[in-house]
Formats: sequence, C-alpha cells, structure tokens
Amino acid sequence: MTKYVFVTGGVVSGLGKGITASSVALLLKSRGYKVFMQKFDPYINVDPGTMSPIQHGEVFVTYDGCETDLDLGHYERFIDEELNYTSNITSGKIYSSVIEKERKGDYLGATVQMVPHITNEIKNKVYEAGITSKADVVITEIGGTVGDIESQSMIEALRQIQYEKGSENTFFIHCTLIPYIYGSNELKTKPTQNSVRDLRNMGIRPDALVCRVPFSTPDNLKEKLSMFCSVPVGNVIDSVDVKNIYDIPINYYKQHIDEIILKQFNLPIKKADLKYWEDLIETVNNLKKEIEISLVGKYVELHDAYISVVEALKHAGYKHNLKVNVNWVDSEELEKIDNLDEVFKNSSGILVPGGFGQRGIEGKIKACKYARENNIPYLGICLGMQIAVIEFARNVCKMEDVSSREFDETCKNPIIDLMAEQKHVINMGGTLRLGNYECTLVKNTLAHKLYKSDKILERHRHRYEFNNKYKKQLEDKGLVFSGYNEPSDLVEIIENPNHPFFIACQFHPEFKSRPTRPHPLFDNFIGASKKYKK
Ligand code: GLN
Repeated sequence: MTKYVFVTGGVVSGLGKGITASSVALLLKSRGYKVFMQKFDPYINVDPGTMSPIQHGEVFVTYDGCETDLDLGHYERFIDEELNYTSNITSGKIYSSVIEKERKGDYLGATVQMVPHITNEIKNKVYEAGITSKADVVITEIGGTVGDIESQSMIEALRQIQYEKGSENTFFIHCTLIPYIYGSNELKTKPTQNSVRDLRNMGIRPDALVCRVPFSTPDNLKEKLSMFCSVPVGNVIDSVDVKNIYDIPINYYKQHIDEIILKQFNLPIKKADLKYWEDLIETVNNLKKEIEISLVGKYVELHDAYISVVEALKHAGYKHNLKVNVNWVDSEELEKIDNLDEVFKNSSGILVPGGFGQRGIEGKIKACKYARENNIPYLGICLGMQIAVIEFARNVCKMEDVSSREFDETCKNPIIDLMAEQKHVINMGGTLRLGNYECTLVKNTLAHKLYKSDKILERHRHRYEFNNKYKKQLEDKGLVFSGYNEPSDLVEIIENPNHPFFIACQFHPEFKSRPTRPHPLFDNFIGASKKYKK
C-alpha cells in the first residue's frame, strides 16, 4: 500500500519547501523505496504555461508534455525519476474537471460543493499518483503558505486523507521560518507556533517541523517548539542556510528525517546508499577553477526564469571541475550597446535560451552574431536556435527581410514559421508542441558525436519551426542541419562546422540534465568554453 508524505509551508513563502520535499524523497529512495513526487499549486490557472516567467519563473516540461511549476525540475534533478501529468495539480485543473463532470451529469441531483466534490477531486489526484506510479511513497508539496485562501480546499483534502489513511500511512512535514532578531540576538519561535496553530485549526497536526534557521537551533528552543506544536523534539529538524542546495539532503539525513518517517510508516529502515550524492557534494564544494558564461535573455531580472538552464550549466561545470558563473545579459539592453567586447570580455561561452514574443529579439541576434564571428562557443536553445538561423540567413547568406512570423507577420522571408499543426489553434494554453519527440541525428555531425546515438528523445515547448523552404540556401553557405524529427521533417538541431563550437536545438536539453549526469550538449558546451578560455 502506498504511503503519503505531505509538505506544507508556513510563515513566509520561498522557504525551500520544494527542496525539502525533494531531499526527503531522495533519502527514501536511497533506502531502496520507490518514490514519486507531486506539487499542488493553489492558483486558478490550469497550468503555468501562460504566466509571465518574470512573475512565476521557468515553466518546466515533463516528458509527457505537461507544463509545470519549476519545483518539478528540482524534484527530477534530486530523485532522478521522470515525472508526468499527475505530478502538477492546480486549482484550475481541479475546478475544470469538477465543472466538466457537473455538465456531463456525473453529480445528477446533487448541489456541487467545495466539500465533498472539490476535496474528493483533490484526494483522487493524490491517490491516482500512488496508483499510476506504483510508488511505495508519494511525496506531495502544497504551494503557498498555510492560511492562504486559495489552498484551503487542498488542506481540507489532506485532513481527510490523514483521517482516512491514518498516521501509519501519512506523514505531514510543516516547513517554517525561525527569524533571528538582531540587537537582542534571539531566535524567535512565535511565527512557527502561529503557523502550526493555523494548520491545527484546519484539523492537521504536523508530524515534523522543518525550520529554516540561520544556524543550528539550540536544544531549549527545539523543546519549546516541540511543546507548543505537539511535535516530538526529535522531529524538529533544522534547515540551516547552505552554500549549495545539494547539501540539504545530507543535512536532513544527519537529523534522521527519513528514519522518523519510515518508523511512523512501520517500514523497515534499510541501509541508505548515499555515496554517489556525497561524492557529488565533495566535487561541488571543491571546484578548482571558475568560468563565465553569458546568458542572453529577456527575463534575466528573475533568475528563476532560467533555473533549469543554470542548473544544467552547473552540472556540466561539475564534470569539468569548474564553477560556472553566469553573466546575466538583458537582451533588450544589449540592443542599445555598441561595445559588445566589453559585455562579453570575461565570457568563455554565450547561451541564448528559450523565450517568447518580439521584445529583445534583436539583442539576442546581436549576441549570436558576436559569438559566431568571434569563435566563442555558442549554445542556442529553442528560441536560441531560431535566432541562430535568422542571424545566419541575414549576415552570412545576406538575405533580406528575414525574421520569424512570431515577431514579424509580414516579413518577406519567414525563415521561422508557425508550425502547420498550429495554424488552426485558438487557445493559448496547453497548445504548444510539448514534451518528448524523437530526433534522428545525422551521421558525421557534431550532434551525432556528442550524443553518440542515432536517435534521441528530447522535451519540447514551442509553436514555431524552421521553414524547410530555406534549407538549401543555408546549407550552401555552410550551416548543417544535424537533427530532425522524421515523421514531421521538422528541424531539431543546427550547427556551424566553421566554428569551434556552435550548436543550437529546437528542444530543451536543460530539462534532462542531472547533477551527477550532465546533458551532452551542456557538457560539451562547457568543455568547449574551457578550451576557449585557455
Ligand atoms: N517562441 C518560440 C516558439 O514558440 C520559441 C519557444 C521557446 O523558446 N520555448 O517557437
């Protein structure tokens, strides 16, 4: 029977609940249990696909094409399991499904209500994850903080699960903040007491507290928290600030959080295999040299908008024993700057990531041209591939009025065009080309050499594609089309062999990078950047 761990948050948001949930999952997996993860987001959007990355951060994409919260990226990177559409549930999804059922007549005779109809739907999503994943333990994180209006129905559903399944099958972790007051030099427990009281007012007693705290909580404070919050003192876990997030599972391991959970579940405490993770931390904390990579995007004011790209760069850095520093370049600002030497003077590589809309496009094209002309390693992702094609057509093939239909509907040469399947799409949400598609790699190309494979599967999120009408013109000037999707003939990878390292892809390789297993494109991009630096 599946067991359920729930992770809630109190006091403030942004405490690292996602990392806590991921760390607990990693520890349980390291003890031989099959784990699965889920995030519940209380907002009304069906998914974050149409939200601004500057507000919400990156949209992560699962292999089966679900656009999700960025926390799922942490989950996958920590537990190294592919998640799916059952892993990100929003209030929007819950409400739509209940309303659809009501229209079909599934509730004939009933007044459809928050309890039990909405809460049943939420509970079903938790149970469905357990059934379809066949996991021993499902770890579900609830977004926001306890007390938010939006998440009340979710918390109520969890209360019912706690009651239905009993405490030997459910475990509640509540993440809170212990603030430090400068001057009186004290750590304060009151906000935690209050947030636990909020949770208990809704019928849930947490089994453990994870307290974000600047340094280890003294024993007397833990005892106080234990007494006020009715949590055993051993279940009050410190989450001290760390240099890198990969330290966190080990911090929790030392405080036995996984053993506490397994004991409550009456499950055997098998030996933990954490050697690979300890080796990773050893590497991360002892990186010998540094390297700077310029990331040219238009959402740079919120670094979370590119979190998987940055993590993928770091992972590749670990392999090459390099600490990767990102030079954040605002593409719109770049349009006004003439001295690019100054902007890129310390950078050993230029990366143009994904993006939407016309703003900042010319700045990205400028950065791409600079990389091509100065032999600086270039990695283009999704929009970064489309940009590379436009740049090549304009400046190498000397074609005029070249653009993407996304930015210029009426350009003479729409070298990037709307995909045929998109022409009749009306809704904006959930209608991009999403998730895994196969890509065939052309022999004797850089892509084939890097992947060491004839066929690959990568995750996508786009509406526009390379316009094959222009292929010959670009090939004649030396551009190589090294990957394509066979059934649709859609271009997936381009490269420039007259350059030390210039490659760009229509898909998002960053989603498949893991800290202990960097993605081949990132791995070799950093490798080439290291060479460039020498
Ligand atoms: N805006 C482009 C498209 O829709 C690129 C998308 C992306 O970079 N994710 O095709």
